[in-house]
Amino acid sequence: MDDRRWTIDDGGQRSRILLYNSPVMFTFSLEAVNGRARAGRFRTPHGELLTPVFAPVGTQAAIKTLTPAQVEELGATLVLANTYHLYLRPGDEIIRELGGLHAFMHWPHPILTDSGGFQVFSLAASRKIDEDGVTFKSHIDGSLHRFTPEKAIAIQENLGADIIMAFDECAAPYDHAYLQQAVTRTHRWAERCLRAKTRADQALFGIVQGGIFPDLRTQSAQFISSLPFEGYAVGGLSVGETKAEMYATLDLVTSILPPNRPRYLMGVGTPEDLIEGIRRGVDMFDCVLPTRLARHHAAFSSDGRLNLMNASFARDERPIDASCDCYTCRTFSRAYLRHLIVARETLAGTLLSIHNLRALIRLVQEIRLAILDGTFESRYSEWMRRWHGNASRNPAREHPE
Ligand SMILES: [Zn+2]
Repeated sequence: MDDRRWTIDDGGQRSRILLYNSPVMFTFSLEAVNGRARAGRFRTPHGELLTPVFAPVGTQAAIKTLTPAQVEELGATLVLANTYHLYLRPGDEIIRELGGLHAFMHWPHPILTDSGGFQVFSLAASRKIDEDGVTFKSHIDGSLHRFTPEKAIAIQENLGADIIMAFDECAAPYDHAYLQQAVTRTHRWAERCLRAKTRADQALFGIVQGGIFPDLRTQSAQFISSLPFEGYAVGGLSVGETKAEMYATLDLVTSILPPNRPRYLMGVGTPEDLIEGIRRGVDMFDCVLPTRLARHHAAFSSDGRLNLMNASFARDERPIDASCDCYTCRTFSRAYLRHLIVARETLAGTLLSIHNLRALIRLVQEIRLAILDGTFESRYSEWMRRWHGNASRNPAREHPE
């Protein structure tokens, strides 16, 4: 990779700065910086991502209940697919034979695959970690499998996404002694991932770990930044820590990461988390929350989160959110959506997913324009007020306080 030059303008300067120019396929440039919030462009072999960007999650190479055409219409540019799930079913070899993920799932735009690490540690029926890798049992049929850094890269090369992730260990956020071991192992695995990578048309991102501990996060951010990744991710957040802990960790890590690469906050989040993440210099996000909430009858709105199963909506002729421009809000009443939910019609999941995804994609698009205008900081409290009440995460994942 050829670093030409980079400088950071402050105060919403509109000057376009070339940050790096990969000899092959990837370039990242910043168009404006407002406080620490950044508006950039990340060019990939399947198109340019305007950052900040929110990526819908298609765990099994499908955004649940939506067609790719619908996802495109929401303004999504990047989608995420899951290495662990696709390796187990249908198998990465089959996807490679069928032309890779873009052809297989008919998504012609950029795709990101995670490394499978998070799922091995959170989903697999049982797992045994050693220095070389992880042996685990499939959550589907109990069969025995083994991931190493080299294997995780080989699978992701078969899948063929534009952005691929280093294999890491995401440990519980509060056990310092264990996290120290996990961070050290993640660092050794990061180096092995870089050595294992063979495809020039995929950008490999490194992942910073370290739970909520400033010493471990500093160590990890410094080490991972020292390696020649095309982007840097913050992992191990939104896994049970408090919001204050998450934001403090992000403040620290983004102050260490090099400004000339895209920064990706993995598995986050709520509207509030996106606003706070962008404010701390994050460029990319993904989260299952919009589609998961949709399957549980819940919708983001500027009146706070709504549960449309609620009987109070039975005669409510208003859309979910009068200020939303999505197909669902332009077309259907809360009363109709409640009817679909009560009648167990699958259209309910589709219509709520359209709304929830559009709400986050549009929020991030609005924020991007404000960064370009230099008005991000002045509009920050307006956004936080508007999205207040949508802040809580899945209660089961909250840290008990
Ligand atoms: Zn809507």
